[in-house]
Amino acid sequence: MTFSTTSTIPINGEIFYQPQDNEVQLFEYAYAHQLPLLIKGPTGCGKTRFVAHMAEKLGRPLYTVACHDDLTAADLVGRHLIGPNGTYWQDGPLTRAVREGGICYLDEIVEARKDTTVVLHPLADDRRLLPIERTGEELAAAEGFMLVVSYNPGYQNILKGMKASTRQRFVALRLNYPDPLLESQILMAESQIEQDLAVKLIELAGSLRRLDSDLDEVVSTRLLIYAARMMSSGMSPLAVCRCCLAEPLSDDISTVEALMDVARLYF
Ligand code: ADP
Repeated sequence: MTFSTTSTIPINGEIFYQPQDNEVQLFEYAYAHQLPLLIKGPTGCGKTRFVAHMAEKLGRPLYTVACHDDLTAADLVGRHLIGPNGTYWQDGPLTRAVREGGICYLDEIVEARKDTTVVLHPLADDRRLLPIERTGEELAAAEGFMLVVSYNPGYQNILKGMKASTRQRFVALRLNYPDPLLESQILMAESQIEQDLAVKLIELAGSLRRLDSDLDEVVSTRLLIYAARMMSSGMSPLAVCRCCLAEPLSDDISTVEALMDVARLYF
């Protein structure tokens, strides 16, 4: 059974990640000092790719969990299962990472219930312990273990904010959409798009992101990569803008048309 939901595109045997600032060094220092890391940033800005890249760079196994409000502590820690020879214990992804000295990445941690995140507390401070209530074990984290969590501060509401007592156990880092030059390099690395089209897409993204609209989200690097891939296979740029940028961002027809009006200024 695999717990990793990471999708990655290896380039020259490495997971490609274009740093935005000093985040690679920051991650390496946090890892060296056995400190847990919190990554904040909007959806599709590269958080998951960054963690996959760092796990590969540091040579650690990676366990990725996409958090949701039904996620229980047992989903992270493990549970007893019934097999042909009776019951047996199966480690959850967090426990496996703790035993193996791997990286456990909890994506959208604020979605998880508060009682679930409480199991992280003794792991995220100096103790580095994982108490497993159901087996009575208290596991000390292996040397390379690192806890990494992320969330999108834009989604936050009063109910879903991260508890201060949890948040204060992490070194925190903020990522955003990369600046235009970096983002066009990412587009070209992740698709076969020509440079001039990539530059136009990035300019369009800049205009869409600056629009004063009531959209919940702005266009992400992920959507731009989808658009670049569709364009590079020959689809007309405006049709791509509709299906990769405007429609994914809104269900409201007049908003979609307003986004398309901006796209027509570029394509
Ligand atoms: P998040 O976890 O923040 O929602 P992802 O890490 O899944 O976003 O990023 C979405 C996609 O955008 C990735 O699959 C990758 O193709 C691309 N991407 C975003 N930022 C970068 C970057 N800095 N370097 C390389 N690829 C990136």
